[in-house]
Amino acid sequence: MSAYDYDLFVIGAGSGGVRAARLAAELGKRVAIAEEYRIGGTCVIRGCVPKKLLVYGSRYGGEIEDARKFGWCYDDLRFDWPTLIHNVHREVDRLNGVYTRTLENAGVDRFLTRATVEGPHNVRLADQDAPISAEYILVATGSSPTMPDIPGKEHLISSNECFQLEALPDSIVIIGAGYIGMEFASIFAGLGVAVTVLYRGEQVLRDFDIDLRDGVAEAMRDRGVDLRMNTNVASVEKDGECYRVALKEGGSLSAALVMAATGRAPNTGGLGLEEAGVSLGRNGHVVVDAYSKSSVDSIYAVGDVTDRVNLTPVAIREGTAFIETVFEGVPKAMDYTFIPTAVFCEPEIGTVGMTEGQARAEHGVVDIYKSSFRPMRATISGRNETVLMKLVVDGETDKVLGVHMLGPDSAEIAQVVAVALRLGVTKAQLDSTMALHPSIAEELVTMRQKWEPPEPIKGSDAAA
Ligand SMILES: Cc1cc2nc3c(=O)[nH]c(=O)nc-3n(C[C@H](O)[C@H](O)[C@H](O)COP(=O)(O)OP(=O)(O)OC[C@H]3O[C@@H](n4cnc5c(N)ncnc54)[C@H](O)[C@@H]3O)c2cc1C
Repeated sequence: MSAYDYDLFVIGAGSGGVRAARLAAELGKRVAIAEEYRIGGTCVIRGCVPKKLLVYGSRYGGEIEDARKFGWCYDDLRFDWPTLIHNVHREVDRLNGVYTRTLENAGVDRFLTRATVEGPHNVRLADQDAPISAEYILVATGSSPTMPDIPGKEHLISSNECFQLEALPDSIVIIGAGYIGMEFASIFAGLGVAVTVLYRGEQVLRDFDIDLRDGVAEAMRDRGVDLRMNTNVASVEKDGECYRVALKEGGSLSAALVMAATGRAPNTGGLGLEEAGVSLGRNGHVVVDAYSKSSVDSIYAVGDVTDRVNLTPVAIREGTAFIETVFEGVPKAMDYTFIPTAVFCEPEIGTVGMTEGQARAEHGVVDIYKSSFRPMRATISGRNETVLMKLVVDGETDKVLGVHMLGPDSAEIAQVVAVALRLGVTKAQLDSTMALHPSIAEELVTMRQKWEPPEPIKGSDAAA
């Protein structure tokens, strides 16, 4: 019999924590999990799932407009926010129940309270006096939105509050143009809200391929979103029913709501980790090795709290690898290559593998194939939309290093094409694959013409 209360204590019942707790319990381990908010974590409660449901909701308006040219007639079209947000909450509640029952059925003890670490094998629950001991502790506490440190920051909302809005504002300023900012800009714009995005950098979506960044910015501007780059917010103040956002560059703008989408920070504050000997990184993340082990042998960490790749499937995979390593005796190091990623803005982005910039830096000789075209649907709907497809290919081995797409169903296509990239597909193999016609994805196997960068302007010409 073990000297500990549990074999495993998991702090945080989100994507990574729930997966690890369930798998350990299914192996016959004695497992407990603590959750201070709601079981399911960010993804289920205030991240991927409710966001994607809002994305669906926001796209109907444009699609119904498109439908007119396809012969559909209707009068009196209006949008009702309370209906949408109520139905989103109902689905979130259902999933919260599903996750809770999953843990229950696996025999995981659940504590709905905050937990902190008190040494290599001890956890303290906020609502209990005595600490609980465990052979292993898994920190899976996720991350939270960070707010810019500006005068009036108390007026800002984050993505968390967007899921709780009782009424839709008629205008919103979004600070930040990362994926969360761009997704909410599209959601609000699709629902008829006047949206302004302010970003201090040169172009939206910093880590994405440059053609996608340029393409999506142009397309969103076309759809009426006011994207302002190289723009810094000085302060926010209440101005009657609205908020006045002052800019460092001068001038100001007014909106009914101001959202900060300026990044997220790992949830390690006050967790007792450093006191227990766990090393934290510069932004407060738990420093772990390839097996998710921290600097203390009995304490592991997975998911956003480690700030590796902050996505749900990654947190889940890290949780699974932790169980295989610690409880199944099969050390499993994580592999972060070819993770497909989407941005559910309008138009949608789907991407997997290296950007052109990364490939040029790491592989030297790189071939680029690009195609932009009007999707068939738009020929009748008249919608102003362009699909962009780009392949980044190793010029020496012919291996496809990256695929980048902008347009309808890009996320779905990115998931499938990720399989091929993981298996080392070459451009020649893509070319030998039969096209599925008529589809958007067929472009991936029919691009033949290498893209050549424009001739650089030479000395005397440049001066002329
Ligand atoms: C708006 C938004 C949209 C997103 N969209 C996507 C998407 O489309 N696709 C995608 O892959 N990813 C998306 N993400 C990211 C994804 O949600 C996270 O990467 C994922 O949830 C991380 O899982 P995790 O297990 O690390 O942490 P989380 O799921 O955040 O779970 C951590 C849990 O720990 C709890 N907790 C924290 N501290 C304590 C404590 N001391 N005691 C007890 N409990 C504690 C928290 O309440 C939370 O429930 C999105 C995130 C946001 C915010």
